[in-house]
Amino acid sequence: MNEPTIRDLPALEGVRVLVRVDFNVPIEDGKITDDTRIRAALPTIEFLRDKDARVILVSHLGRPGGKVVESLRLAPVGRRLGELLCAEIKLCADCIGPEAETAAASLAPGEVLLLENLRFHPGEEENDPGFARSLAALGDVYVGDAFGAAHRDHASITGVPRYLPPVAGLLLERETRIIRDFLILPERPLVLVLGGAKASDKVAAVAKLLPKIDEACVGGLAGATFLAALGADVGGTPVPEETLLVARDLCVGGGRQKLKLPVDVIVGSTPTPHGEFRSSYADDINPGEQIFDIGPKTITEFTKIITRAKTVVWNGPMGVFEVEELAKGTRAVAEAIANSRARSLVGGGESAEAIRSMGLTDRIGHVSTGGGAFLEFLLHDDLPGLEAIREHSRARVPA
Ligand code: ADP
Ligand code: MG
Repeated sequence: MNEPTIRDLPALEGVRVLVRVDFNVPIEDGKITDDTRIRAALPTIEFLRDKDARVILVSHLGRPGGKVVESLRLAPVGRRLGELLCAEIKLCADCIGPEAETAAASLAPGEVLLLENLRFHPGEEENDPGFARSLAALGDVYVGDAFGAAHRDHASITGVPRYLPPVAGLLLERETRIIRDFLILPERPLVLVLGGAKASDKVAAVAKLLPKIDEACVGGLAGATFLAALGADVGGTPVPEETLLVARDLCVGGGRQKLKLPVDVIVGSTPTPHGEFRSSYADDINPGEQIFDIGPKTITEFTKIITRAKTVVWNGPMGVFEVEELAKGTRAVAEAIANSRARSLVGGGESAEAIRSMGLTDRIGHVSTGGGAFLEFLLHDDLPGLEAIREHSRARVPA
């Protein structure tokens, strides 16, 4: 990696290390339902504790919109982290200001402090220099380790590295290394499986990746958008108008052979449990119906393609998998990837959640902790968070 990492730091004993982690975990009724992201941050935290650094952790959680939202406090995360580290985690009710400064200053070497949700302050998402400076005042060194948030131009990601010597943490290093390795001389066929809800992002991703890959199986709303672009009547499925042209250009521009679209789909009026759904040919959808999953013929076709692949990259569920009746496409794709001998890489919040809820995580090569960051890194081979570390470390940290 071109960015310096915590391994490049000389002595750390007693040094206040401000670590931007991604503890944006799902919480229901005060209980963490998936602690993957907390576990993923452990190598960096343990490395720093072993070196007797004073570890100060900052993260966002959810979308409080710049004000305090009680249900989005980080206390449950602190409890879980304490269990995983078998150590006491000190908490602070704010992430900047006198209380945070006192808490940071009174940490003993090897101790861990978790500050409160960064997004309780509007300055985080606005990337306010004053807010970034207040965060920087808490540490001697900055460690960027929030891979899942590294695509954000926020104060704790791109602002703080201006004011503190920045390095990358072990998770950021590992994620970028693994994803880069996937696309350098991949074993072929290299198959992209794409779905999910953000059709315009996903169609743009297909456009960018198509030259590098051999086949793309496209479901979800991106699949529906391609079908509409080819002239199919997709009924009431919400396809973004402005994306249709991009999708059409891709199809006529020679990409059509690589693109595998649904031949049949599951349609209905609302994606609710026990709703009425039927399978339909992709060109036989009624005006009041929407596409909610890929159909059985498409499952067979996509499974065949995945089984033949030597390398598979998957982002985005094939359908509304949260509803049992609409999870068949996503489950089939997940199982095909788990069963195949291909090297596999999965990214995306909901895709990772689908894999986890189906108990398949251990049978996938790498499940990224990133959603938006995963896709952006795949497409651009860089992220604002990496760039900030590179740019601002040059003059300060010996590489
Ligand atoms: P990821 O988080 O894996 O990158 P996205 O955020 O793009 O994926 O989309 C995930 C969401 O897409 C899921 O919650 C799923 O319900 C939804 N989805 C998938 N297919 C459809 C569809 N045909 N219609 C509506 N929503 C869909
Ligand atoms: Mg998502």
